[in-house]
Amino acid sequence: MKQIRGFCLWCLLLALLTGLFYLRRGPAGADERMILALLTGDGVQTVTMADYLPLAVAGEMPAGFEMQALQAQTVAVRTFALACRKHERDGADVCADPGCCVALLTEQQLRQRWGGDYEKNMARLRAAAAQTDGQYLTYGGQPIQAVFHASSLGRTEDSGALWSPLPYLVSVQSPEDPRQVPGLVTQVTVTAQELSQALGFVPAGDPSGWVEQTVPDAAGRVETLVLCGQRFTGAQVRAALGLRSTAFTLSWQDGGFLFTVSGYGHGVGMSQYGAQTYAAQGMDYRAILAHYYPGTELACLDGQLSAGLLRKNSSKSADTISSSLSS
Ligand SMILES: [Zn+2]
Repeated sequence: MKQIRGFCLWCLLLALLTGLFYLRRGPAGADERMILALLTGDGVQTVTMADYLPLAVAGEMPAGFEMQALQAQTVAVRTFALACRKHERDGADVCADPGCCVALLTEQQLRQRWGGDYEKNMARLRAAAAQTDGQYLTYGGQPIQAVFHASSLGRTEDSGALWSPLPYLVSVQSPEDPRQVPGLVTQVTVTAQELSQALGFVPAGDPSGWVEQTVPDAAGRVETLVLCGQRFTGAQVRAALGLRSTAFTLSWQDGGFLFTVSGYGHGVGMSQYGAQTYAAQGMDYRAILAHYYPGTELACLDGQLSAGLLRKNSSKSADTISSSLSS
């Protein structure tokens, strides 16, 4: 009798612990089953998508953003990781370098950054992952290049202006509000000498006459700029001067070139502050993703064990759960 009572007590304790575990982590879903190979300074480490996503989204978007914006960002990060082929030679899916793949913060970094808000913020990011469990964007059955950027002013950029054109990375409206986006419009002044040195052209005549032509692209950003007879792309000027985007105007004022720059980032794909604005207006994450990645469909992981395997079989595994994203 005593043994039975002891056994029952153990069963109760086990059930209680299991319940606590699920309350904290949620039941194992598609993200728990998906293994990612992560390239770090210490080599390749494997993590589950469920563990990866909150730390990656934390590195890319303020945790206090609207939940629908966090969910859109989570789907974009999940999709990016599934589609990324940059590190196949290393036997990895993604790295932790924001300049290459997606930013990834450690728990220690986040505890330092958030202090007493750590648990609250992580709970939001875990919820954004759980509520979009396993969902990723596809085009023609393949995970898409779900690139994103901080902010645009008015319109996003067409991928063809910077890289190869992709049908779902085209210029769309983006509703950022200068009063709500920090640093949406910035100004930088450089001297004539700094400009000629940074871009490597030979100065000719008075600087007020150096800018011969500015050609905007379809999204209104600078496609090319002709300075003293030399042609530069907007991306070259941005990189040389460290401008926040290629959406800039340029004028000669008070002995210097004044650059007025709108937005932050390459401008292609989803704008994070645009997503935040749409979410605040009541748009849900599916509609936000449909807007920034037109023509794509939302699919769900269906039991693939690794991101690499999914890429190989992606046309078979794209179990489309919604076609409404093409609207
Ligand atoms: Zn990378």
